[in-house]
Amino acid sequence: MECSRCGKQVQNDDKKYWCECFTVYIEIAGKTLSERDIEMLFTEGKTGVIDGFKSKKGSEFSARLVRKGEKPSFDFGEKQKKRSKVFVQGLESGTVLLRVYCRDMSFEEEIQFGLVSPQLASCFGALTGCRIVLHVLGKEAAAENLLLEISDQRFAKYVLNVVRPKQAQVREAVSYLWDILGKFDSWDARYVVTKRPKLKGSPYSDRFPQGVFPWIYPEVTSSPQLIEGHPDD
Ligand SMILES: [Zn+2]
Repeated sequence: MECSRCGKQVQNDDKKYWCECFTVYIEIAGKTLSERDIEMLFTEGKTGVIDGFKSKKGSEFSARLVRKGEKPSFDFGEKQKKRSKVFVQGLESGTVLLRVYCRDMSFEEEIQFGLVSPQLASCFGALTGCRIVLHVLGKEAAAENLLLEISDQRFAKYVLNVVRPKQAQVREAVSYLWDILGKFDSWDARYVVTKRPKLKGSPYSDRFPQGVFPWIYPEVTSSPQLIEGHPDD
């Protein structure tokens, strides 16, 4: 067999095949390649779709192998080259804006998770987003990269395991999120600076009214006596 790129004879031992420009190990990502696959790589520069590769996390995936550079690389096809993205922006306490981009699908929704801390709300939002992506992708998730963008800096530090949450509830939620993220081939999380939302009456507000429960939503105007039904009255 000759390599169609460099024209040299392909040599082999019990672990690999090689010519002057290209080397193929017989076992790639836990899969033993057939002679036909190897021949196609050297003569046509690509294989058909091969099943049964194993990702680093142990999940199986299917891909073509292509001859780019000196070693074969995976080709998941046009559709799978795009990564999926989940963006979670903390709004008023307990509420997050969730945006999900996956293949041709995009989803945007404000979700109210009730009386929980901003970090827990962001975590619930992230979980919701990841589960939507998993639902859309099905088995393809095992070969997908997921990007999680987070506007809550503290929650971003929890996800990246820079800071350990003090509250057990948040710790459990974050560790559940890691389980879900583990269903993807790989994932990245990053903190995204967004404009701080105006907090009205949130327990986390740095201005009056502070500590009003988020479901009350008082009308705040420049004149405080116009506020009706404030619990401290
Ligand atoms: Zn060659």
